[in-house]
Amino acid sequence: MESNIDIKETPKGFNCVLCNVNLPNSSSLEQHVKGRKHLTLRSVRDTRKSQEEHSVFVSGIKPHISQTDITKHFQQFGPVADVIMDKDKGVFAIVQFSETESLQATLSCLEHQMKGMKLRVKPREKKEFKFVPKKRSDAERMLEVLNRLKPQLCQLLSVDAQMQCVVERFQLGENERKTRSLLVELLQEVFVEFFPDSQILPFGSSVNTFGIHSCDLDLFLDLENTKVFQARAKSTTEQAGEGTSDDGRSEDSILSDIDLTSASPAEVLDLVAAILTRCVPSVHKVNVVSSARLPVAKFHHRELNLQGDITINNRLAVRNTRFLQLCSGMDDRLRPLVYTIRYWAQQRQLAGNPSGSGPLLNNYALTLLIIFFLQNSEPPVLPTVEQLKDMACEEEECVIEGWNCTFPSQPISVPPSKNTQDLCTLLSGFFSFYAKFDFASSVISVREGRALPITDFLGQKKEKEAMQEEQPTRTPHHSPKLAPLNLLDPFELSHNVAGNLNERSQRCFQTECQEAEKYCRSLQYKRKSTKGKMWGLVRLFTPHGEVPHNKADALTISIPFKSARLPEGLRSQLHMAGDDFRPLWFQKVCSAVEGVLTSVLRCHLAPSTGREEMDASSASLNTSMNSSFGSVESQSDTSPTVKAGAKRLLSSGSDVSVSPHGKKPRLAKRGKPDIPPWICTQKHMVWAGRRKVRRELIKDTDTRPEGSCMEMETQVTAHIIDKEPELKEPLEFKVQPQMVGGTESTKAVLKLEPTSDMTGVFNDFFHFLEVFLPKMVETLLEKEIGGV
Ligand code: ATP
Ligand code: MG
Repeated sequence: MESNIDIKETPKGFNCVLCNVNLPNSSSLEQHVKGRKHLTLRSVRDTRKSQEEHSVFVSGIKPHISQTDITKHFQQFGPVADVIMDKDKGVFAIVQFSETESLQATLSCLEHQMKGMKLRVKPREKKEFKFVPKKRSDAERMLEVLNRLKPQLCQLLSVDAQMQCVVERFQLGENERKTRSLLVELLQEVFVEFFPDSQILPFGSSVNTFGIHSCDLDLFLDLENTKVFQARAKSTTEQAGEGTSDDGRSEDSILSDIDLTSASPAEVLDLVAAILTRCVPSVHKVNVVSSARLPVAKFHHRELNLQGDITINNRLAVRNTRFLQLCSGMDDRLRPLVYTIRYWAQQRQLAGNPSGSGPLLNNYALTLLIIFFLQNSEPPVLPTVEQLKDMACEEEECVIEGWNCTFPSQPISVPPSKNTQDLCTLLSGFFSFYAKFDFASSVISVREGRALPITDFLGQKKEKEAMQEEQPTRTPHHSPKLAPLNLLDPFELSHNVAGNLNERSQRCFQTECQEAEKYCRSLQYKRKSTKGKMWGLVRLFTPHGEVPHNKADALTISIPFKSARLPEGLRSQLHMAGDDFRPLWFQKVCSAVEGVLTSVLRCHLAPSTGREEMDASSASLNTSMNSSFGSVESQSDTSPTVKAGAKRLLSSGSDVSVSPHGKKPRLAKRGKPDIPPWICTQKHMVWAGRRKVRRELIKDTDTRPEGSCMEMETQVTAHIIDKEPELKEPLEFKVQPQMVGGTESTKAVLKLEPTSDMTGVFNDFFHFLEVFLPKMVETLLEKEIGGV
């Protein structure tokens, strides 16, 4: 491993000062120093250093002195490799020599004269080379805004007043709204020239009453009437011969180039982009993103400094924007809540996705989460979408793309809420609602105002397929894409608006809600500080520094329940289990963990009930493995039968036992399965150098393992055990599996604790397992139950 000045040892492992990254252990450090980033930065630094050592800084240059003059002058001291002059003013230059000796000669010359003027020449300043991440981050910019907002908020008398102040600080001003609508009018005038009878409709935050100063302008270009126009014009032209039409608008229009009914959205948007570029003043940076869920033409308006998005096929968004407007009009408390929670979520980096796509909540999804909470407050602040539908009159009926989007057009049609809670209480209510929310087992339905059981959605794939076979002509309404957070659109019920979230972002959202809930219970939240300290929203908005991990946390490995990634067979089994799906899933995971540890990593597993049992570990292990994985031949360290190991796991079937005791897990109090801990023994450093072995195995066609990743990993372990010496003292550690779930996200948590670590390798093994185990468990579940 590299021992150099860039690497510092820290209590948590190592820190690479050059790249500004922390590395948990020596093997990750070893990989880092061989990695591209580190090597590139080193080479950049070496080049800079060499340039510094070969160059001088020249100042006092007058405007009539050219680069060639400078080169000529300095060539008398040695060959000049480069001259860099400042472009704007031309008052200084850096002269770089090819040889270091030239530098000495230059510096020892007492006076440098050029065209009668004296030049100042000095050595380059030695700057410490450091990796500087690009630009100022969004978080930093937001912090600036917060720093200005803080004193204002602290002076107010209540949290309610603070929330109102947040609205005033961020909401779109009257002038901003006017300029946006002028731009919409201008675009309308331009587009109607090219697309007769088209309409351009704003939606999203510019008009949904939740817009902030810098928000984008979302536009829907409605071409339905243009299509009708085009069809009519076409048939008239066909009847009357080329070149004429009913109103003379089509023959030289852009419509002669494109058939709107058959053209793809990307093709239409390419035209839209061309029109924007050529015909709308101040519009620039136009580009079409056709890979998005809804293709979009993006543009920037220079003068208004406004980002615009034009979509076609997006009628539902215009309707859901109307719905948000309605909610806002139904209860005055919604706007302050939305502004406050959006800002909190941005500060906590839970929402935003500045580049448009990413694993965070977007503002629409976050607003729906707030509405859902308000539908579930006691008594409800907002009615459900289903209730709203019943309050609408006949003229308000609306169906878009087969989805019922009916609701009253005016808030006055909706009876006021009986809930009288203040903003301060509702805000803390939001946090405690989601702090305890069972995301793993629920699909949030704003339509019904309740959480639907996830198991209803797990079995749908096959049922839907069957239905599709029976009625192949029916337009399929797909099941929503399941993700760690499932939030159904209120109208397009097959769309999970939070489908982009990953495990981490969902977990962060819930953890932050838990933190916020805790804070909201304190006096600092509700009561203004008499000593001028931060209170109320200010603390809630202030980003917390890095929360130090405590030791106990650092030694747990979580395997989250990922509804979206379950193999088909397991989905069906869990669907059948209904409310009891958690213990069943946990059983499967524990069985897979046992499989990875024993068969893939060749650990000895035994119950933790005493040393004597440890000594008889192979006997007890074989018994347990026979009961766990089916009856197969015993496994020995020296003659591993990889294929047999894999078979054992494959044959584990659906009702495997999950403990080394060969027992099925009992359901403990509160419905959590009770699994006794395992004691694991590992005699080899099976975690070290795996990547290299894997590469070798893949290269060598004779030993290239066929099939799954699990077989490959098993071979890698076998290879290491064959080639590398045993540890001086075997590593022994305890593994306690636990299931967490119900009020938190469902996950299997493995607590690892070293019981004998004479060679000090436990941390390395743990860090390896942290990444390896969850991935392998997923593979194994897929392999075992995937196709059942
Ligand atoms: P901001 O632009 O300030 O982030 P916004 O409310 O405009 O907030 P966008 O992400 O720009 O949010 O979305 C604009 C509109 O597009 C939303 O109001 C909604 O109508 C629709 N929309 C956005 N995301 C989704 C989604 N995941 N599913 C369905 N519709 C969405
Ligand atoms: Mg928007």
